[in-house]
Amino acid sequence: MTTPLALPGLAGKVVVVTGAARGQGLAEALVLLASGATVIATDIAPDAPADLASSADLPGLAHYRQLDVTDEAGWTELASWLGSEFGRVDGLVNNAGIPFRGRIGEIARDDWDRVFAINVTGAMLGIQALSPLMNAGASIVNIGSSAALNAHHTVAYTSSKWALRGLTHVTATEFGARGIRTNIVHPGYIETEMMAAAPAIMTDAQLALTPLERTGQPEEVAAVVAFLLSDASAYVNGAEIPVDGGFTSSAGVKYMSDIIKNSQKTT
Ligand code: NAP
Repeated sequence: MTTPLALPGLAGKVVVVTGAARGQGLAEALVLLASGATVIATDIAPDAPADLASSADLPGLAHYRQLDVTDEAGWTELASWLGSEFGRVDGLVNNAGIPFRGRIGEIARDDWDRVFAINVTGAMLGIQALSPLMNAGASIVNIGSSAALNAHHTVAYTSSKWALRGLTHVTATEFGARGIRTNIVHPGYIETEMMAAAPAIMTDAQLALTPLERTGQPEEVAAVVAFLLSDASAYVNGAEIPVDGGFTSSAGVKYMSDIIKNSQKTT
């Protein structure tokens, strides 16, 4: 394990991360631990990932709890444990999410419901269960997707991430008076197991549309999430931050620009 980046303004904070057994969730847990936070990493898997188990040298304190984000009773149990163990929660990262690459003509109702249950309802249940333990200065970070900013063909996934934007804005508005902030981060193409299953042609197409002309790393998302959890972002509320190499910003215009540039080279 390489030493993760450490950010200021996080030492001693109690932060829950969902879907933290691997990928971006694990990277978020490790940055928070390197920054001195107490991290409750949760995932559907029964056992803590090896990287978390070997994070004892980092300044923060790591705990691992099994949690299926769709399980309301599981959230209640976690809230009760957090209350008795720490008496408060300073941060929640709703990171757990699943892809589903079916198109509008072929999506089955069960698949649609499962994607929404994990990607949207899971985040809502987490906010409902843990927000009573939050005080002024607490921060909620939802993990959206560049698909939430465009019409990506994966209809259930795209629609679920658009819904998560709505949940983010409502929560940011409702909890603002309590001094609790809620923001959403939209990763582009990030190298995790989720994307390992994506067809190569999709990777090529996305790279052709990404101004930085490379894929992202989980640590690059984790750094932005950690900033949003930290006191350094104390006046950032209801914001949507793409971490996508400029993919959504250029809105496909890079493709057109490159074609024009290349045609001018040959004429
Ligand atoms: P990942 O590598 O697939 O990791 C997701 C983790 O969440 C896995 O450990 C998974 O466990 C767990 N999980 C799945 N269902 C769960 C549930 N019901 N309750 C608790 N945990 C559950 O994914 P990732 O690439 O790190 O993605 C993290 C987040 O970023 C997701 O919300 C995703 O939609 C979003 N995102 C990712 C990308 C990307 O390019 N990677 C781009 C945009 C947005 P199992 O493996 O056992 O299912």
